[in-house]
Amino acid sequence: MKRTLIRQVHLLDPAQGLDGPGSVLIEGTRLHSVALEDMDPAEADVVVDGEGKYLLPGLVDLHAHLREPGGEVKETLDSGAKAALHGGFTTVVAMPNTDPPVDRPELLRALRARVRMLKGPDILFAACISQGRSGKALSEILLLRDAGAVAFTDDGDWVRDGHLFYQVMTYSAAFGFPVLSHAQDPSLYREGVAHEGPRSRKLGLPGIPRSSETVAVFRDLEIARETGGYLHIQHVSAAETLSLIQDARAQGVRVTAEVTPHHLLWTDEVLETFDPVYKVNPPLREERDRETLRQALREGHLEAVATDHAPHTTFEKTTDWLVAPFGILGLETALSSLWTYLVKPGLLSFSRLVEALTSAPARILGLKDRGTLRPGYRADLVLFDPEAQWEVLPENLYSRSRNTPLLGTTLSGVIRRVWVAGEEVFPFP
Ligand SMILES: [Zn+2]
Repeated sequence: MKRTLIRQVHLLDPAQGLDGPGSVLIEGTRLHSVALEDMDPAEADVVVDGEGKYLLPGLVDLHAHLREPGGEVKETLDSGAKAALHGGFTTVVAMPNTDPPVDRPELLRALRARVRMLKGPDILFAACISQGRSGKALSEILLLRDAGAVAFTDDGDWVRDGHLFYQVMTYSAAFGFPVLSHAQDPSLYREGVAHEGPRSRKLGLPGIPRSSETVAVFRDLEIARETGGYLHIQHVSAAETLSLIQDARAQGVRVTAEVTPHHLLWTDEVLETFDPVYKVNPPLREERDRETLRQALREGHLEAVATDHAPHTTFEKTTDWLVAPFGILGLETALSSLWTYLVKPGLLSFSRLVEALTSAPARILGLKDRGTLRPGYRADLVLFDPEAQWEVLPENLYSRSRNTPLLGTTLSGVIRRVWVAGEEVFPFP
């Protein structure tokens, strides 16, 4: 079996408390040895010098929209896979709100067969809670699970019908999978397009209040409490949501939560630009929300960072704020943007960021062979150059879409190499 040695590199693996110079030996598809010391290059067929760089576990994204089937003009499994590797993600969970939605085992099997043909990250699939995402009848949960669904969600919509949500949470309690909730009560925002607050009122934009999130989270938590199912709250945006989650968790409710890079980076101040590239759902809120999210990420109350990578065409995203679709790209810039704007200025430790992008999401998904650098685990690795810089230009992105407010900015932190199951898959040949 082929042996690759990566030496004289800074190992950072928060799950094991590894943080210092060391080396990693890959044998075949797995990690053979990991040590905070040098290893003999004679042991290996390939030797990589990691001087001045970090070696991280491959990143895991809980939340990406890869748009296939039905939205191939925005993204495909192939372009999404490339974008993921460019951003250091070696495992990605694709959301099921495609056209048609992933609510049937046959479709899920076909998509998984497509993924096996791609040489790239491990793309996993969440399946729909309700048939056709209609919120009316439960999908074939167990058949979908047998076909490989790693989680269930009607992402894009909250499951309004409490009985339906109760049912899926009962399955979750019995079978252990996470239920990912886009917790947002639509009756509380209707045609809303921006955070409900002084800025949206001044501009006359229909608002999406914080209560649309907290009301939904409260109901979901109560159902999780009663059923014992595993609830994961997607893209938390409002400060008040955190206290609900923390209280429930303290009382033993099985709940985790994620935050997106865009909710950590920006606020509704961007409404002044009128640029719909910033239009996301849930919306960017106020400074106190952003500060609470950052604090909760620092303290681990928000376990994971998930991109909510949501590609849209330039045509759609350069129309009026009122009609443009919701969403921002995330896969290619998550690590370097958070490194640049949070870690480098001292607002977040690198170790906590890496944990939120590796072992935390792996644990939420119940993936037992990744997210940390342990012998025997999949050799999913990222070589990260903290000092180098790159410009986010249209020609530097692999996604089919370009809807990121970071276009034209220079970010610190460059992903130099990525290995998936022991094979170097980035840079692309
Ligand atoms: Zn969502």
